[in-house]
Amino acid sequence: MNKNKRVLVLGCNFAGLTFSRYLHSRAKGKADITVIDRKNYINFIPNIPIEVFNNHNPADTLEFSFQKHLRRDGTSFVQGEIEAIDPDQKKVYFTPNERKGAAQESLEYDYLVIAVGCKLAFDKIEGFAEYGHTFSDTFYGNEVRDYLFNQYKGGPIAIGSDRFIQGKSPKLPNIPTAFAACEGPPVELAFSLADWLEEHDKGDASKITVFTPAEVIAEDAGETILNQLLPMMTEMGYGYKKATIGIKRLYKEGIEFKDGTSLEAEMKIIFPNWEPHDFMKGQPFADDQGFVVTDLYMRNPDYPEIFAVGDAAAITVPKLGSLGHMECEIASEVLANELQGQSNEHVKPLHPMVVCFGDMGSHKGFYMHTDEWWGGKTSILKMGYTPYILKMGFKTMYQTLGGKIPGWGMPMSELLGDHSII
Ligand SMILES: Cc1cc2nc3c(=O)[nH]c(=O)nc-3n(C[C@H](O)[C@H](O)[C@H](O)COP(=O)(O)OP(=O)(O)OC[C@H]3O[C@@H](n4cnc5c(N)ncnc54)[C@H](O)[C@@H]3O)c2cc1C
Repeated sequence: MNKNKRVLVLGCNFAGLTFSRYLHSRAKGKADITVIDRKNYINFIPNIPIEVFNNHNPADTLEFSFQKHLRRDGTSFVQGEIEAIDPDQKKVYFTPNERKGAAQESLEYDYLVIAVGCKLAFDKIEGFAEYGHTFSDTFYGNEVRDYLFNQYKGGPIAIGSDRFIQGKSPKLPNIPTAFAACEGPPVELAFSLADWLEEHDKGDASKITVFTPAEVIAEDAGETILNQLLPMMTEMGYGYKKATIGIKRLYKEGIEFKDGTSLEAEMKIIFPNWEPHDFMKGQPFADDQGFVVTDLYMRNPDYPEIFAVGDAAAITVPKLGSLGHMECEIASEVLANELQGQSNEHVKPLHPMVVCFGDMGSHKGFYMHTDEWWGGKTSILKMGYTPYILKMGFKTMYQTLGGKIPGWGMPMSELLGDHSII
């Protein structure tokens, strides 16, 4: 009889795929892994803007199938809509979604790994459908592409975030509070869009205003980096608006903020609140918003058979794929050791930090490596050709290896990023 433990992974984008692949290689045949997702491909979100600015459909190069990688590992894949989790019965309810009309099914687990990301709550922003733009998926990326290449009249552009509502729970490790979910992308877009405007003779950085609900944009970049970045952006001509509290509504000519002010903008590029999915809200293993409570080993303190990785985990702040990656390394090691009856004493807890490669247009990029926001001393900002090459290289490596970045992948990127000068 098969005595392997049943590991059920919910979600198969960055965190779900990487976790499943790492667990397969580390558990040495001791886990029967099943993955559920509503779609059977990865959407490589961070590179959508690069494709859009090159007038390419992001779907052509950024959606790639993961099934062959799972199949090779012997991991089962179920395509369906996850609808409920019953942590006491150790059961997950889902509806297969290949065809309409399927009946709800359930799967039981010994271990549950939650990697379902978040809902990006554009639907909570009045006027977004009529007047908003964003880059968070292929559909929205293509809308921006069409607007920029066919309709843009040369007016002002606003780029920024709505207020993020971070969850609270007395059981969470101590982490700082963020007012925006992920402000690397707005900063990145400010640079790459200014480059696009110049390339297409439509203006420059002075057309763009970046805004934030917080006292300072990209606060998780830490003070040292911000003291370099913000004066540089001002010198380049960007407008900057802080402490908006949040977005009240979008209208044709601009944005109205919750602090009572407004901003004129022909294009309004928005990053919304990252909100937990409805089926996560009110769960006994979640915080007051619906993010999964974990310790620094990505395990829930009340339901030790439940782990979370990526944006769905409460301690993933900011909501950054590179943080999720570090969490997958830790959670897969902890679970693999446990399945093999080995000690976890040597496993190091999560040491959160921002590691980020951003596009600046014209084949240049920026690199940030910092843990200052969490009280650490690392703070590195570099700009030049190397960060762009590393960003593109990471995508190729991720796609080729099906999310299974080798152990040296991240340290090597950090080494190159920290020490490169162009
Ligand atoms: C424009 C943009 C640029 C970004 N750039 C960067 C960057 O440069 N670097 C970086 O580190 N991070 C970046 N991020 C953040 C990064 O994309 C996220 O942190 C990352 O996608 C989180 O991965 P995840 O697997 O946790 O969640 P997701 O990528 O959201 O994946 C969740 C998965 O769960 C599935 N799922 C959800 N609900 C259900 C359900 N009910 N039933 C079935 N399946 C379900 C989804 O289909 C999806 O496959 C960027 C984000 C945006 C929007």
